[in-house]
Amino acid sequence: AAKAAGRNTSRFFDPVLEESANTRVRLQQELGVALAKEQFEVMYQPQVNVRTGQVSGFEALVRWQHAERGLISPGDFIPVAEETGQIVPLGTWVLRQSCMEATRWPAHLKVAVNLSAVQFRSTSVVDLVEQALADSGLPASRLELEITESALIDDHDGAQATLMALRERGVRVALDDFGTGYSSLAYLRRFSMDKLKIDGMFVRHLATDMDAQAVVTAIISLAKALRLTTTAECVETAEQLELLRALGCDDIQGYLMARPLHAGQVPEFLGRENLMSVMHHGAR
Ligand code: C2E
Ligand code: MG
Ligand code: MG
Ligand code: MG
Repeated sequence: AAKAAGRNTSRFFDPVLEESANTRVRLQQELGVALAKEQFEVMYQPQVNVRTGQVSGFEALVRWQHAERGLISPGDFIPVAEETGQIVPLGTWVLRQSCMEATRWPAHLKVAVNLSAVQFRSTSVVDLVEQALADSGLPASRLELEITESALIDDHDGAQATLMALRERGVRVALDDFGTGYSSLAYLRRFSMDKLKIDGMFVRHLATDMDAQAVVTAIISLAKALRLTTTAECVETAEQLELLRALGCDDIQGYLMARPLHAGQVPEFLGRENLMSVMHHGAR
């Protein structure tokens, strides 16, 4: 106990930790204000079918429009929002915003929304999704939810019940960042889902690292055996695209096609004639 107290005391007076605690508190307060004022933007990154070159949908990616610091990436505030529980109202806002935006797109296009593990466990996700679909008028079949393995860890039965309820309503479920979490293979057997997203970590080294290539090959054949589709993220080069095509990956997403777009840029992107040529020569 004395040891623990000592540790706590020194932690309390550690200037570096104290500063980062202050930074977190400030971030938390600013996030609260930003939530009240809805100072966020959802951007949309296209997902493209490898065989046809057609856009199949967009992933919704949130940004914080900070008054002084400009656009802040989710990696810099989602962890804090998860710690404080602010992810729940934020995630609700992103879901509703994304569903509304997607109703303006051609009717064959889906929107994929990231759902934090904290949100997946802490609120009635099914009610939330039903509400967002009802209020926007978006058909359930056009909504995909991206969850990570961490959403499935603690409460196996509850998580499976939630996934089944979502899929019964026609909403798709994708397992995000596949291959970077724990117990991936056990989860695949136990949980209902539709898609595996191959993490950028593997895609990045696909053309240069035989081990990365072996992992991607294994993920795609595993997915096929389990009747799941695959989307590779962070595709940046034509070489990566060709390898993914050869391996039988279904969809790709990455800077090769487009960076995340402002909602207003989506129609122009969809109007581009030859996405196949973009896929071979790059968007830049
Ligand atoms: P994620 O869901 O795995 O999203 C993919 C990330 O890779 C995005 O980063 C995207 O901009 C980035 N990316 C896409 N193509 C490329 C590429 O070719 N090269 C590289 N280097 N990066 C690429 P972003 O937007 O910064 O989001 C980071 C993470 O934050 C997301 O990873 C997701 O886990 C989380 N996130 C984003 N939006 C939301 C949200 O609305 N709710 C929740 N809960 N999490 C979100
Ligand atoms: Mg995602
Ligand atoms: Mg991902
Ligand atoms: Mg990722």
